[in-house]
Amino acid sequence: MSNPNKPKIINVGLLGLGTVGAGVYEILVSQRRRIQEKTGVRVAVKKVGVRALHKKRGVRVPGGKLTTNVRGVLKDPAIDIVVELAGGVHPAKEWILEAFRRGKHVVTANKALLAEQGEPVYRESFLRSRRLGLEASVCGGIPIIKALTEGLVSDDISHFFGIVNGTCNYILTEMSQRAMPFQKALARAQAKGYAEKDPRLDVEGTDSAHKLAILARLAFRSEISFGRISVEGIRHLAVEDIGYAAELGYVVKLLAIGKKWKNGLELRVHPTMLPLDHPLSNVHGAYNAVFVRARRAGDLLFYGRGAGKFPTASAVVSDILDIARDPSAASGRPIFKRLAVLPTDDVKSKYYLRFQVEDRPGVLGRIARALGGHKISILSVHQKESHETRSVPVVILTYEARERDLRKALETIRAMRPVSEKPVVLRVEK
Ligand code: NAP
Repeated sequence: MSNPNKPKIINVGLLGLGTVGAGVYEILVSQRRRIQEKTGVRVAVKKVGVRALHKKRGVRVPGGKLTTNVRGVLKDPAIDIVVELAGGVHPAKEWILEAFRRGKHVVTANKALLAEQGEPVYRESFLRSRRLGLEASVCGGIPIIKALTEGLVSDDISHFFGIVNGTCNYILTEMSQRAMPFQKALARAQAKGYAEKDPRLDVEGTDSAHKLAILARLAFRSEISFGRISVEGIRHLAVEDIGYAAELGYVVKLLAIGKKWKNGLELRVHPTMLPLDHPLSNVHGAYNAVFVRARRAGDLLFYGRGAGKFPTASAVVSDILDIARDPSAASGRPIFKRLAVLPTDDVKSKYYLRFQVEDRPGVLGRIARALGGHKISILSVHQKESHETRSVPVVILTYEARERDLRKALETIRAMRPVSEKPVVLRVEK
């Protein structure tokens, strides 16, 4: 009979010792006792694969464990779980596939890989009966993957909205609370370490789209073609629009939106106006949150720190321990269906429109006629004061309309001489 006081030893091979990898190493070392006491598992980090051996890191790893020989880590028969925290699609994908082939379980935080080329990885995990832990790939410390795959397993999710990029949420919070222009808010995010030097992945919406693809796959049980997600970032947002939205009772958030309809999925990332009383409207700064509507459980809100060393590392460690406790649990039945992603043109939404127009009679009527001619009904019109003499901003809120109709109406309106700039369009959700 096995001794119940004897810990179960699990050997881990860590690939990557950057922000998240160092956090994982630190937790596993500093919390070793607590982990063992709570779970009966002792996790031993056997090897750590990195690119450069002699680099200053915020964590001390005994010399013999660090290696640049990643293949050696993958081949080591003593390693039970490979934890991939290097990032990027290649060679992370090849490493993970090899780990499965060699009978190891895998934990990863690699959202880019899972979103863009995840299917072979999911398939290999199933075929080899090895587990794949991916909690850390979406929203760091928030256990949203567990909620979708376990807590809500018997439910039907009709839609979810996610604030899944802390960098963008921080920038938008600064823009809205301090009337700060985008560039200044971005510089502040960079100074505080919330934004990378090259912020494109975040501010152009790609990172949010990665997380949307991973969440939508689990929420709607469908393979997702990443390229079909419609993505718009926040770089072009003007602080005036955020101000006008606030005057109308809305806040602007970069949302990852997943909706399931009878004829397919709606998957989009874009700046969105939400009414001030929406649960996501009070998610400020670098925080993340996901609002889920499930048929039986009702509305749920998951909130917390979506990135950073320890929130993300905590999710990685949770996956390691989950696998250690139950290595034979299936990672979920494979998904072999691919629901259609609806073309953006078919999506229906309410809109905020801002036109910069010459201040003379008749212009508003022409705009209203162009919208009406394309089946777009106006909910309200607001003419703003302008410091310029020749052109004034006109803000229009519409009822729900199809994107295709809006696009055509805007083409007509743009051709009108009194409309001096490209109209601003923001989608409105409730
Ligand atoms: P990071 O700080 O850039 O660290 C990457 C680590 O991987 C470094 O230690 C690097 O080695 C190692 N590495 C990269 N390519 C390698 C190669 N070819 N061979 C060996 N080692 C290699 O990245 P991170 O921020 O920790 O992110 C890791 C993963 O977590 C990414 O998939 C990221 O998307 C995901 N994630 C990060 C966060 C976050 O808050 N940072 C949140 C959620 C998810 P060297 O140190 O020697 O250069």
